Amino acid sequence: CGIVGYIGFRDAYPIVIKGLHRLEYRGYDSAGVALLNYELKVYKKAGKVDDLENFVKGLNLKGSVGMGHTRWATHGAPSDRNSHPHSSGDRKLTIIHNGIIENYGPLKETLIAKGHVFKSDTDTEVLIHLVEDIQQATGMDLKEAVRIALNKVIGAYAIVIMSADEPDLLIAARKGSPMVIGVGKGEYFIASDATPIVEYTKNVIYLNDNEIAYVQREGLLVKNIDNSIQIPYIQELDLKL
Ligand code: GLU
Repeated sequence: CGIVGYIGFRDAYPIVIKGLHRLEYRGYDSAGVALLNYELKVYKKAGKVDDLENFVKGLNLKGSVGMGHTRWATHGAPSDRNSHPHSSGDRKLTIIHNGIIENYGPLKETLIAKGHVFKSDTDTEVLIHLVEDIQQATGMDLKEAVRIALNKVIGAYAIVIMSADEPDLLIAARKGSPMVIGVGKGEYFIASDATPIVEYTKNVIYLNDNEIAYVQREGLLVKNIDNSIQIPYIQELDLKL
């Protein structure tokens, strides 16, 4: 339902939580965050963003790469374990997702047969296991594995993926579900609509369907999922708030 991501030089957590509050107007049943500070940490809860904040109070929430999600359940009841982010088996990869992976059933069966152990009832978790599986099978880097995985899923999505092995990278992609990237100086803001971004920058890129953005502090690369490089169009937001 709602997506926020940050990569830059500030602490991600306050930016991500504030962004989740800004997206609350859309409605949701659960909330979660992932933060990267050497290790990848994931905290998630059914309930309100306030409940998530209380849940993590007092914990070390450092990290200048992070993302957050508010979930509106479509597959799997609202619960702590079905909340996003969802992580791969080795917990090095994690994903947030808006939308529906329609062919999650057959993909999940194949992955289970290969030994993947699922921790939720969501369609979303299938996608991160699929990425892990492609990496394990081919030794591909994360960027390419995500692109290949997206070619295998049917449905609508806006996703953000983080990896403990690639601490300077956020991967965002969309098909049929909106995704905006705010362009700062040495920092980027990702969100499912512009409301969490406007207070930081007016320069935004609206991803198009079938595009993947590889977002790093020093710059971003946008590709189509067919692997062709896209020239991102940076436009100025004109929002009268
Ligand atoms: N289909 C996903 C789920 O049920 C994502 C729902 C959403 O867009 O929040 O977990």
